[in-house]
Amino acid sequence: MFEKVLVANRGEIAVRIIRACKELNIRTVAVYSEPDANSMHVQLADEAICIGKGPSADSYLRIDRLISAAEITDVDAIHPGYGFLSENAHFADVCESCNIRFIGPSSKAMNALQDKQVSRSLAKKAGVPLPPGSDGIIETEQEALAVAKRIGYPVMIKAVAGGGGRGMRVAHNDISMIKGFYTCRAEAEKAFGNSGVYIEKYIENPHHIEIQILADTKGNIIHLGERDCSIQRRHQKLIEETPSPLIENKFKGLRKTMGKAAIKIAELASYTNAGTVEFIVDEQGNYYFLEVNKRIQVEHPITEEVTGVDLVRQQILIATGEQLRLSQSDVAFKGHAIECRINAEDPFDNFRPSPGRIEMCYTPGGKGVRVDSHVYAGYTIPPHYDSMIGKLITYGKDRREAMERMNRALSEYMITGVKTTIPFEQAILQDPNFRRGVYSTNFVEELLTGGRRELIEDKA
Ligand code: ADP
Ligand code: ADP
Ligand code: MG
Repeated sequence: MFEKVLVANRGEIAVRIIRACKELNIRTVAVYSEPDANSMHVQLADEAICIGKGPSADSYLRIDRLISAAEITDVDAIHPGYGFLSENAHFADVCESCNIRFIGPSSKAMNALQDKQVSRSLAKKAGVPLPPGSDGIIETEQEALAVAKRIGYPVMIKAVAGGGGRGMRVAHNDISMIKGFYTCRAEAEKAFGNSGVYIEKYIENPHHIEIQILADTKGNIIHLGERDCSIQRRHQKLIEETPSPLIENKFKGLRKTMGKAAIKIAELASYTNAGTVEFIVDEQGNYYFLEVNKRIQVEHPITEEVTGVDLVRQQILIATGEQLRLSQSDVAFKGHAIECRINAEDPFDNFRPSPGRIEMCYTPGGKGVRVDSHVYAGYTIPPHYDSMIGKLITYGKDRREAMERMNRALSEYMITGVKTTIPFEQAILQDPNFRRGVYSTNFVEELLTGGRRELIEDKA
């Protein structure tokens, strides 16, 4: 077992990882940027090292400083969390060559699933359905138009290195295709340092459904069911739940089919540790591979609630070389879990980020309520990072109970000093279609534009 782990991240996920380490009696080292000095992860860790200024490029993305911090504190392993360097194969390589275990997949597996286009080829080899699309990177406007002609509009232009819902454009005709092609390339270059884009068919009324997997270093791979993450704004998840109402009510057999597909992809990539295989499912129950997230995912707690498996603990155990103690037949699903991402954004002002000082913070509790967060009263949210300040997760014996509990918990959650997405999530929880479990990734857009804005304004 590791004696000491460095957490190369910040915010709620750093807190989450420190908690898992503590339960395994592993000492922890936090790293932080100057504006994060008062963050909860710094206070909860056994040791803490400042690694630079606010912008991520000067701190959380500095491999040299992270490795120096790891050497000074003499840790056995680094947990990268999500975002930042978590899916950077080079970072995983550097850790290994410095004799520090990287808690995640090997750099070889990461390279096999490195970008979305490479992953598409691998999924194809695994016999998993893909949205029709280009076979490689699209270099010219002419090539883009030819692909669109072959697969038909609407299509999506996507950055191979994209992430966090950025670097994507929908095109409905040749004109928007040409425009989208150039803007997408330029944006991708700016955001990801890689201008490569590809094209895939835009699946209409899509459902985002993903499969959680765990793979040890001895060749055992299991899946832990699905998460429905169709409640998105601008391709970014806002609310997630498991089981998926679509699968539960309409396509029960899909859980097994998609679980098998996810395992096949992981096998072919020699994948180890925790990962998520993302799919799009259409109204007819056809599923299509999207990408593999080679890290722990933001919404992992809902899977933990219904399976009873501590995913971060499993990540650490797998990284030490331990064999999975669970087999596929041991994985059972019980009850229903929902997560709301609490973002410091103003839903009444186009979700404008709302950094600043939190004056009062009362966190909900009670049966079936879990809050993963790093903020507290008096904490100042720095402007440099993602606006997520916490995750509210509720568990119930069924979907109805989980929803009622979420309603109750959202109404208890009090944060003053900054704006949050809580009122917007309350409106979603009250929406009749959401309550019936009938929604696609268009849901939020429809709620905002479909004359139902009063639903939110009533609450202001
Ligand atoms: P999840 O499915 O885990 O929610 P997200 O795509 O929302 O995944 O990403 C989680 C975090 O990682 C977010 O903070 C997001 O901004 C960040 N992130 C993900 N991929 C990238 C990337 N390629 N570049 C920069 N940030 C990313
Ligand atoms: P990211 O790396 O930013 O997470 P993904 O490829 O996972 O990008 O896509 C993010 C979201 O964009 C999906 O959850 C879905 O809502 C939408 N999306 C992506 N590809 C398609 C597609 N081919 N058809 C319809 N929606 C898509
Ligand atoms: Mg994704």
